[in-house]
Amino acid sequence: MDRALFVIRQLRAAGFQAYVVGGSVRDRELGLDPQDHDIATDATPEQVVAQFPKVIPTGVKHGTVTVVVDGVPYEVTTFRRDVECHGRHATIEHTTSLDEDLSRRDFTVNAMAFDPETGEVVDPFGGREDLTRRVIRCVGEPAARFEEDHLRVLRAIRFASQLDFDVEAPTWAAVLEKAPLLERISTERIAHELWGILGGRAAYKGVRLLDEAGILRRLLPEVAALKGVGQPERYHHLDVFEHSMLAFQHAQDLTPDPVTRLAVLLHDIGKPATRSHDLGAVHFHGHEEVGARMVGELVPRMRLASSSRIHLDSKELIERLQLLVRLHLRPMQLHGARGAALRRFVREAGLRLDELLLVVLCDRLAHRDPEIETFDRFKHDIAALGPAHEIHRLESPLSGHEIMQLLGLPPGKELGRAKTALLDALVAGELPAEKDAARAWLLQRFGRPSASG
Ligand code: ATP
Ligand code: MG
Repeated sequence: MDRALFVIRQLRAAGFQAYVVGGSVRDRELGLDPQDHDIATDATPEQVVAQFPKVIPTGVKHGTVTVVVDGVPYEVTTFRRDVECHGRHATIEHTTSLDEDLSRRDFTVNAMAFDPETGEVVDPFGGREDLTRRVIRCVGEPAARFEEDHLRVLRAIRFASQLDFDVEAPTWAAVLEKAPLLERISTERIAHELWGILGGRAAYKGVRLLDEAGILRRLLPEVAALKGVGQPERYHHLDVFEHSMLAFQHAQDLTPDPVTRLAVLLHDIGKPATRSHDLGAVHFHGHEEVGARMVGELVPRMRLASSSRIHLDSKELIERLQLLVRLHLRPMQLHGARGAALRRFVREAGLRLDELLLVVLCDRLAHRDPEIETFDRFKHDIAALGPAHEIHRLESPLSGHEIMQLLGLPPGKELGRAKTALLDALVAGELPAEKDAARAWLLQRFGRPSASG
């Protein structure tokens, strides 16, 4: 806050208004650590640029520049007023009124300004009261606000998930009414909000809200398709959708990682396509393979990798989710298995072993009989493999840089191959996880004979 205060003092000294606005005011009032401090001012971008030695013109068109103080970026945005909005694009103009700027913001809890010099909070729409009531409420008339910008429908659910708030009744009624407008919003922007929902502290509630609003079938149709898919009573007390939701609820409690949580939500998407009757019993033969294949279509179709909330490209995201879905049955199938089979499994799971075990645990916890003893015994057997199983934590005894130097390789495919091969060999127990052993092994496999022989 000190540097934000510096920016604000500087602007005020030049005769402008300046406040901290948006998410950081909300987070500060909640006693959370704000991520970033956005600043709003009546100075134009050009006037802001003139006040500071280091300014990056990040979005001058939208009235935003980034002031850098001690290497920390602050977005400084000129007060704005919407002239015309129609769903996806708004025409804005600058204004000199803070209240006007706050009134175009989406929810009351996001429409407050903070004066760091006096400690005063400017709160024209009752944002602080809504923070105490823990509700998301539109500034102004909800239906009109969702008409202006359709993405707000999803933002309401995203904030409910992140803050563990409820959406208050009139706002929720408008969400239900305007949800179909999301059809007009780009898949990338939807994906970004979806990751916000999946990563929220109340992610389970978030996905329930998506479902109630009828937009789960737009965002994750493979999950919505699990509704009403019946399962054998002997193992399950829930249909596939409710089973997946219950598993997801456990995932929300057991990991903050949105990718692992999504894997849990998706682990059974192969079931509807593989459901069959065999001697009167219901089966889902091969659903984990089919599910993994479906993940390969879902991720690009929904542009799931195109969000700064996850730091994976599409290929990495697909591989990670596919591995978790494909192997989710393996531990319970392998229980009681011996060394070689277990080591093969560990090698397949690779660096994702912990994540996979978490997915399996969530799945088990959503069964009629979770058989946690069996699961625990399996975990114990894996641990008893000794150092080989530690590979997922251990990574490699040599850093990428060390391998580059050793083999004289530039960064690239061949270096990647060498790294992977080393990890595989370590997992398989072919060499001890020590630097010297790793060097010798790499030189033998990948060392090019030098010119002098
Ligand atoms: P986060 O912690 O996720 O960044 P945030 O509240 O900062 O939460 P942003 O999306 O970064 O959310 O937006 C910053 C602020 O800009 C919001 O708090 C809100 O006041 C305003 N805002 C952002 N998007 C919209 C929108 N679509 N409609 C109206 N106001 C918006
Ligand atoms: Mg923000």
